[in-house]
Amino acid sequence: MKRRTFIKTTSATGLACTIPPIFPNIFDAKYSTEELMGKEKIELFGEGINLRREAYESFLAMKKAAYSDGFDIKIVSSYRDFYHQERIWERKYQQYTVEEGMAPLDAIDKIIEYSTIPGTSRHHWGTDIDIIDGFPEASGDVLLTEKFEVGGPYEGLKLWLDKNSAKYGFYLVYTNNPRRRGFEYEPWHYSYASISIPMLTAYRRLNILKLLQQENFMGIEHFTNGFVKTYLQDHILDINPVLL
Ligand SMILES: [Zn+2]
Repeated sequence: MKRRTFIKTTSATGLACTIPPIFPNIFDAKYSTEELMGKEKIELFGEGINLRREAYESFLAMKKAAYSDGFDIKIVSSYRDFYHQERIWERKYQQYTVEEGMAPLDAIDKIIEYSTIPGTSRHHWGTDIDIIDGFPEASGDVLLTEKFEVGGPYEGLKLWLDKNSAKYGFYLVYTNNPRRRGFEYEPWHYSYASISIPMLTAYRRLNILKLLQQENFMGIEHFTNGFVKTYLQDHILDINPVLL
């Protein structure tokens, strides 16, 4: 069934949308709801890096090691707050609905191929990065899968990361496992596991459906309980299992 149809047909389920945590985590109390949704000012480290301290330090170590192997890891995107994500969301929503004339539900489906609903992004956490290699020449949009594949400008860095990123605590989130649902394969998006795992555990305890109902960004009136529930299961939880 197409997701669009699913959205339309699950409007009256009235489900409580908290995803039950597998195990309670002692770290949970460290993270507030606002913080988990990108609404709190958190302390970030490194100019142009913007990660939590431990993630920043590990990133620097990884960057240094990659550099000595001939790769210049550059951050394209790291921390984004709720309001930044809201601007991305609304720009895309307007582009697809107004400029391209798509129906709202089709536009939402298209946005969530790569972009998150505000308040649900891992980029809100100060643990996740989108990275490329600064050395090779690359034109146009740098965050394209083919640029990381055979013959692409970032092929070398990708192979290096496959071999080495875990040594520094960074893992690919949206893998190319064909059975994975949710976001498309993102060979550029890495997460610092030792902080993002407890943050995801804390995030899973929130009632995201209820929290989203308090927001009023464009298109949100088309969200149904069933849609949000499926989105959380597929887009938030169907990730690289080492990050769960
Ligand atoms: Zn990303």
